Amino acid sequence: MSNQTFIDKEQQYGAHNYKPLPVVLTRGEGIWVWDVGGKKYLDMLAGYSAVNQGHCHPRIVAAAKAQLERLTLTSRAFYNDQLGPFEEKLALLTGYDQVLPMNTGTEAVESALKLARKWGEKVKGIAKDKCKIITCANNFHGRTIGIISFSTDEQYRDGFGPMVTGFQIVPYGDALAMAQVIDADTCAILVEPIQGEGGVIIPPEGYLRQLRQLADENNLLLILDEIQMGLGRTGKMFAYQHEDARPDLLILAKALGGGICPISVVLADEEVMGVLKPGDHGSTFGGNPFACAVACEALDVLIEEELPEKAAVLGAYFMEGLKKIKSPAVKEIRGKGLMIGVEIKPEFGDARIYCERLQEKGLLCKDTHYTTIRFAPPLVIAKEEIDWALAQIQAVLN
Ligand SMILES: *Cc1c(COP(=O)(O)O)cnc(C)c1O
Repeated sequence: MSNQTFIDKEQQYGAHNYKPLPVVLTRGEGIWVWDVGGKKYLDMLAGYSAVNQGHCHPRIVAAAKAQLERLTLTSRAFYNDQLGPFEEKLALLTGYDQVLPMNTGTEAVESALKLARKWGEKVKGIAKDKCKIITCANNFHGRTIGIISFSTDEQYRDGFGPMVTGFQIVPYGDALAMAQVIDADTCAILVEPIQGEGGVIIPPEGYLRQLRQLADENNLLLILDEIQMGLGRTGKMFAYQHEDARPDLLILAKALGGGICPISVVLADEEVMGVLKPGDHGSTFGGNPFACAVACEALDVLIEEELPEKAAVLGAYFMEGLKKIKSPAVKEIRGKGLMIGVEIKPEFGDARIYCERLQEKGLLCKDTHYTTIRFAPPLVIAKEEIDWALAQIQAVLN
């Protein structure tokens, strides 16, 4: 069947909450994907960084198959023999005492917000229902009613009210603005180390360190959403390591599932995680043995293939190559590791038009916020493949 047949089916039977590029994928291997017509593309989105290890990584697929044939779901009513070892691995890797397993990134953010509020009431001593959490303008943390309540994107909120209260929004990258709104009822601040969906926005040097200091001085929790930037993408295993700004709550998802299944976690020390008692919070699929087995292998692949280190070296190389393309359409190129945004000047049209042209050239890219093309391939990409990509990008930009 042709691309159009599948597109038509989604158009007719699916909710229209996305507007995909007109390509129908049927197979993937490493950085490459193939459409139903057999055309091959370099995947420059990598599932919004859920596929950092590359498509169908043989080791992760093997781990998934083995677990698939043994045990997949127990619920948390019983113990299983995959969750404990997974939690141990993650705790030892990150240095946090404990792990709260969930499924999607959004759920992990919601869980972190619940943890922060409960810590605020039970440990910090904020009055009942008075906890305040500070977030940043232009954020992306998910799509639940709780999370869109502090979105500044009008489309994310329009028609979905009433919103949840208890959040305050300050400009991103401005620690002083953050400091000014902190008061005795503030229990936490929630930020992304780099805003991905917001257009690959990199905060000023020292920002995360300043937030860490604010949290310490004011006895509040620093929550970092590293769902997209964590697990190697920015050239370190965790983005906060660039500034040594260890958060009190670290949220991971996406690449934790190795591109195979959803799994997310909140990491925290016992002082914070300890506020949760049996029955306070839960998830049927959270901590299921299938996802835990996949995640263990996904982490091992990141570590053993040294993907964060690769992202640092190849990201710098990619960025240098992009900067050599002297196109009048380019306003700015910014990035860290293999998360790179190329902002197009508004008079040169929407970034989506460029994504469509790149698709013709065999590169699958996604625009963010109308003006920026994001280049974020699987971290297993090789230098020669970046060279090839650069040639295609140059042809489209010029
Ligand atoms: C993708 C993303 C989320 C939401 O994760 P889902 O798995 O789609 O629920 C939250 N925060 C950030 C920074 C993300 O990139």
